[in-house]
Amino acid sequence: MTATADRKEFTFQTEIKQLLHLLSHSLYQNREITLRELVSNASDALDKMHFLQLTDESAKSDTPLEIVLAPNKSAKTLTVRDTGIGMTEEELVENLGTIAHSGSLAFLDKLSGDSDKDLSLIGQFGVGFYSAFMVADRVEVFTKSYQAEQGLRWESDGTGSFTIEPADVETRGTSIVLHLKEDFLEFTDPYRLKAIVRKYSTFVRHPIKLQSEPEEEGKPAPDPEQLNEQRPIWVEPKSQLDDEQYAGFYQHLAHRGSDEKPLWHLHLSSDSPLQFHTILYCPPTNFELMGFGKSEHGISLCAKRILVEDDNRELLPEYLRFLYGLVDSDDLPLNVSRQALQDDTVFRKIRKVLVKKVLDHLAKLADDAAETFRTFVEQFGPVLREGIASDFENRERIAKLLRYHSSTADDDELVSLDEYVDRAEAKSEEAESDGDASETSEKKQPIYYATGSSVTALRRNPNLEIFKKKEIEVLFLVDPVDELVFNHLGRYRDHDLVSIESANLDLPEDDDSSSDETEQGDTAPNLEKLLVVVRDAVGDDVAEVRVSKRLTDSPCCVVTADGGFGTQLQKVLAAQHDDFQMGKHTFELNPKHPFVRRLGELVVNPDNETFVKDCSRQLLTNALLQAGLAPKPEEAIERTQKFMEELAGGKSSIVV
Ligand code: ADP
Repeated sequence: MTATADRKEFTFQTEIKQLLHLLSHSLYQNREITLRELVSNASDALDKMHFLQLTDESAKSDTPLEIVLAPNKSAKTLTVRDTGIGMTEEELVENLGTIAHSGSLAFLDKLSGDSDKDLSLIGQFGVGFYSAFMVADRVEVFTKSYQAEQGLRWESDGTGSFTIEPADVETRGTSIVLHLKEDFLEFTDPYRLKAIVRKYSTFVRHPIKLQSEPEEEGKPAPDPEQLNEQRPIWVEPKSQLDDEQYAGFYQHLAHRGSDEKPLWHLHLSSDSPLQFHTILYCPPTNFELMGFGKSEHGISLCAKRILVEDDNRELLPEYLRFLYGLVDSDDLPLNVSRQALQDDTVFRKIRKVLVKKVLDHLAKLADDAAETFRTFVEQFGPVLREGIASDFENRERIAKLLRYHSSTADDDELVSLDEYVDRAEAKSEEAESDGDASETSEKKQPIYYATGSSVTALRRNPNLEIFKKKEIEVLFLVDPVDELVFNHLGRYRDHDLVSIESANLDLPEDDDSSSDETEQGDTAPNLEKLLVVVRDAVGDDVAEVRVSKRLTDSPCCVVTADGGFGTQLQKVLAAQHDDFQMGKHTFELNPKHPFVRRLGELVVNPDNETFVKDCSRQLLTNALLQAGLAPKPEEAIERTQKFMEELAGGKSSIVV
């Protein structure tokens, strides 16, 4: 900082310099957004003032709360003026000199170069004020804090530094003077300004007025004209609102462009026992999936139309954090701290109702609007499912909304737990009426699931073979987190959730077990001896070696201990935590597989022992690879090299 007389010079934080460079070098086609951002800041400052006046006698004044746009063609400027709380010198330095929000840094990191995408992010990440430098080559800010006597002037050309000095500022609030670049003189045109305000800012809660210039010099300026509607559409009946109005309010709340429509909205009005109005919106895309970190916005909370908080994070649980919206209740206290608000009974009751209504709405969407619901699941399913672990009360409701791939469905189809259970129950009823009612009908068939890296990989999972044979559906979990979700859920509609990887599967016996022999051929000879040799070869690497009851086509597989984490989840945990020890697998051999039978024949001859042991180790390696693990690669490579050399050695080099 350097100072001449009363003027102080500051350099921008490095990140701001970067940001300003980007903004001023034509990243965006759509410069109208500057006005939206400045108006939105002005509106926030007015909200704060309004709230102060309601809660603090000494903050009351006669100055109307409003925003004025004042273009000046000859000076090539546009001024955005508000009578909000204003800024002190400290606040000026802090707010307009540094990036206070970590979001802005994330924004810089994530710029895609695709202007549409970047544009929709700009508001989200609070680039706000700095967007002024998209249209102006010099910006002046005149401001007087509601707490201050002295006004201030901030100025910068958006390159490296800015200055602050005392200035005469008549009324409380802030004026941003944009010295427009030659290309953007359209921002002095009243018609253009009207159109932009209608497009972006019609829902701003304070009047936005246009202060036109006098028609001729010396003549009085016309009276300011109000441009926005300031409509609280959430208190209006649904029947009087159309999709366009709902979309407009969404764009206002979520800072989105005028072409972005919400995926769905929920408009509720309730009079008793609780009085409140709300509109909640689901965006069409989830930025979290694009690697942006957690959504950091909340819900606007109003009491009797007055904004109490614009990003309340407690009104909805974390797992619904992607929703935008506004809640307005006459019963909420105005003059309380954040903490007291959270503990307020009305607040907590509203929260409870909202969560239930949102989940019910989603269930209805699933029934009535399959495509919308599918998009919802793809975008926000990964967030919603967090609720299974955190919201015990609504666990069933959330579980109802989960969707998975399935062994009996097409690759692109998604199945609900209800569909799975309905099918399983119908099948068991059918079996009962076919006459083989046994005591097994008392016990409900578990919901079986498999975890793997993709549907294609899962379809090849050897553990699935017995389920195919017995025609039992298996849900496919392609995201390890889903396994955690299932662990938390435990059961659904009285059906246990069971991994097909778990060691002890309690599968229904075949009606006619003699058919096995003819279908699958004989069991390997010398099985006991073979098991001894296999154990000797791989014993240290596995928990147990045993004969499999679940394999039909594959020679072997690995399964996990009952109740323990599945392989996929263990892999994730091992990658995240250095001290995480993966559990040992149980190694299962298919005694009817031709290769295993052949090993049974060979094992009686002591000369073959080394070969059988090598094969055992390689079989285990193959099974682990199939489960998505990379077991002892050096040994596996050495062994396969040896096998290949032996095979090559047996080949003839004579060309016939
Ligand atoms: P954001 O609005 O996302 O916080 P901005 O860069 O637009 O980010 O603004 C930074 C901060 O500057 C605001 O949070 C606010 O504290 C302050 N500010 C901006 N414009 C005004 C204004 N017109 N009146 C008072 N404070 C303002």
